[in-house]
Amino acid sequence: MPIDNERTFDLLVENAMGFMKRSLADLSKPEDGLKYAVINFYTAIELFLKARILKEHWTLIVSPSKASLSMNKFLVGDFKSVSFEEIKDRLKETLNTPLKKDVVANIDKVRQHRNKMVHFYHPDYKNEKDEIIADQMEAWHDLNRLLIGDWKDVFSEHFSDINEMHNQLKTKYKPYRARYYKEQYDKIKGTLTNAEKCSYCGYEAVTKEIINITKDISLIEYRCRICRDYSVELQASCPHCRKTIIIPELYDNFVCPKCDKQISYNDIVNEISPPSYDHHDLYSGDYYGCSSCGHTDSVVPMDDGNYFCTCCFSIYDSMDTCEWCGQTSNAVGEYSGLEGCDFCDGNPEWNDLSS
Ligand SMILES: [Zn+2]
Ligand SMILES: [Zn+2]
Ligand SMILES: [Zn+2]
Ligand SMILES: [Zn+2]
Repeated sequence: MPIDNERTFDLLVENAMGFMKRSLADLSKPEDGLKYAVINFYTAIELFLKARILKEHWTLIVSPSKASLSMNKFLVGDFKSVSFEEIKDRLKETLNTPLKKDVVANIDKVRQHRNKMVHFYHPDYKNEKDEIIADQMEAWHDLNRLLIGDWKDVFSEHFSDINEMHNQLKTKYKPYRARYYKEQYDKIKGTLTNAEKCSYCGYEAVTKEIINITKDISLIEYRCRICRDYSVELQASCPHCRKTIIIPELYDNFVCPKCDKQISYNDIVNEISPPSYDHHDLYSGDYYGCSSCGHTDSVVPMDDGNYFCTCCFSIYDSMDTCEWCGQTSNAVGEYSGLEGCDFCDGNPEWNDLSS
């Protein structure tokens, strides 16, 4: 019997929803309620991530540590599935949709709470209830952003259930999170200088960091020390009037507030890397592509050796060229001739062609 991938995917998502609902119900129960709320919550998070991977191919959610890969065993659930480490690796290397560093950190916090619950007796956890629930809320926010954002094409059939789940979690978790944020703020408020008010949680806890792209262009990162909300903007001189301006991320033909002329990411590309820059000789005149925003020519080298997307402001540490389509970008895997990159589908006969 062949595997019906669509059906298996739907069942996996429904299973994830089931664990999430169970986790919510457990939270209201006395005694061991919190323990099961944590365990079921983390199980749900992993199942959503596994569903994303399964959509690509069922074999990808079977752990490579198990020697044989049997379709019959998979169908009856007799296999060891991928660990969180392997999930991160698959998303990055095989699917080219890596989890961002802060997303990994947020999920990992929840994973550690869960490990404490299942691996040994942990008598103090009830005192940490507010913190645990606040951490779960951040991890859910990150996952929800992926499900309805970057991965929207994969999960679109389940949007209404995901949305309902989101609202339930928000309502139920709110008081725990409010108490925990207050406690955190009381701890750090004396240490914050020049912090700005966070539009998300309301605390004056947003600190800023400046990253120099070139000597005249800098990225300004804002991070809330309480809720970890994050945003970014670019400070540059307007290519037309040369006055200093602030450009928001993912802009599309931004209008300079000083001279009213339009600015596109191509203008910023030329500001950072004039056409005479020698990477043109290296890669036959092409600029580089960005998988986050999908442009083929928005990425330029930075002075420090990293690469900067002038549209979505992502920073990458390396670029590779796809063996099949020739596009240079951050999203080229090991077998690009065969599997393609984010900008092409590759060629199934690549191995015959290239041998
Ligand atoms: Zn905040
Ligand atoms: Zn201007
Ligand atoms: Zn980009
Ligand atoms: Zn390609």
